[in-house]
Amino acid sequence: MYLSKSFIPILKNNPSEAKIKSHQLMLRVGMIKQSSAGIYSWLPLGFKVMKKIEQIVREEQNRIGVQEILMPTIQSSEIWKESGRYEDYGEEMLRIKDRQNREMLYGPTNEELVTDIFRASVKSYKSLPQLLYHIQWKFRDEVRPRFGIMRGREFYMKDAYSFDISDEEAFFSYNKFFLSYLRTFKRLDLTAIPMAADTGPIGGNLSHEFIILADTGESKIFTDKRIFELDSDGTNVDKEALKDLRKKYEKFYAVTDEKFNEKEFEEKVSQENRLITKGIEVGHIFYFGDKYSKPMGASVDLPGGKKDFVKMGSYGIGVSRLVGAIIEAKYDEKSEIMKWPISVAPYEVSIIPMINKNDQSALEKAVNISKELMVNNIVSIIDDTEENFSSKMRKMNLIGSPFQIIIGKQTDADLVEFKETGNEAKKIKLEEAIKIIKEQKVSN
Ligand code: ATP
Ligand code: MG
Repeated sequence: MYLSKSFIPILKNNPSEAKIKSHQLMLRVGMIKQSSAGIYSWLPLGFKVMKKIEQIVREEQNRIGVQEILMPTIQSSEIWKESGRYEDYGEEMLRIKDRQNREMLYGPTNEELVTDIFRASVKSYKSLPQLLYHIQWKFRDEVRPRFGIMRGREFYMKDAYSFDISDEEAFFSYNKFFLSYLRTFKRLDLTAIPMAADTGPIGGNLSHEFIILADTGESKIFTDKRIFELDSDGTNVDKEALKDLRKKYEKFYAVTDEKFNEKEFEEKVSQENRLITKGIEVGHIFYFGDKYSKPMGASVDLPGGKKDFVKMGSYGIGVSRLVGAIIEAKYDEKSEIMKWPISVAPYEVSIIPMINKNDQSALEKAVNISKELMVNNIVSIIDDTEENFSSKMRKMNLIGSPFQIIIGKQTDADLVEFKETGNEAKKIKLEEAIKIIKEQKVSN
């Protein structure tokens, strides 16, 4: 891709309306454009990142055996009346009337709809567990939409739902998602901590929020620092291993402010391990038993001939919010350098040839390098403009490819100036550079 032909509308300066760095960068580098309060269009750069995040989320859901479906954004009010949430949800729900004057709504979440789908066809315990997910736009008419896509009104979410025969089986499903979330955030190069949380309007009693640290986050957290050293590597998807994994995390105090208890915090965490800070909620999992299955009549036949309501959980990841969360974690706003994790980078390499009217040889070289990269499955963008070097670097640093290749006049035939974005450049052979990039891709 040539920068001159790309739709990446970069601004010279930070837009004044943006208060936090992710919102600043996203507007500055043209990842999104606001269409109305809390509602955005996604431009090519932002869209590429979001789609890559979505794909990682999808792969990690599939890996634990969750089946993908797609439910609509517009729902009928009937099922929400059955569950009792039509009134409870209040003004956050966008209510719409169709031409027959039927009450419809733009889904803020999908517990009712998925329960309706489930009850229509699953009748026996033999079909359980059922784990279903979709990745779809949601609408919540937030009181204060802000920070760009971090708290939008329309946002993109992965939401999954589990249906089980007993509490014990349901906890197993819950723990599978617990592991899957740790794996997902790790692939996004984020440290997300599971914290005991309140269940809010979704209801229920067991719940964890997955939070990444950031000063600009809206969740206040109280935690034992040692939780950051834990890892889920090597955990199998079997009942006992997953129980142990959750125990390993739950051993450390880690809560958001709704669950905070000062006395408990001081008793359980020694002074030197206490951390009180802020974070961004990127995922939230809930177990709520028969909260929806009972009022909506979603039951199955049990082995002995009796019937019972299925035990359900729900599991959300803020896919669009993650774009902002990654920027909050990775963008150095002082030096104005962004470096995307290679797993979600819009381009893996930025190629920066020094070009002027009389000498296009560096551009030719850039095109050849880009082709060579493509053969190796590496996606690059070339700055083919005739701007000066520092202005080119400034733009590419904002675009944030994890690697940069600079082609100056003196660059000799088979060496390139190669750098990890933000680090020093070194002169190496292109094959070596390709090797380094490939190694990072594999380990991610
Ligand atoms: P919050 O506490 O941030 O308002 P929530 O607890 O209401 O979020 P959930 O119902 O748990 O949200 O939704 C699952 C996930 O969807 C959240 O963990 C978050 O990542 C994302 N999300 C929720 N609301 C928004 C929003 N307004 N804009 C962007 N992402 C959101
Ligand atoms: Mg939540």
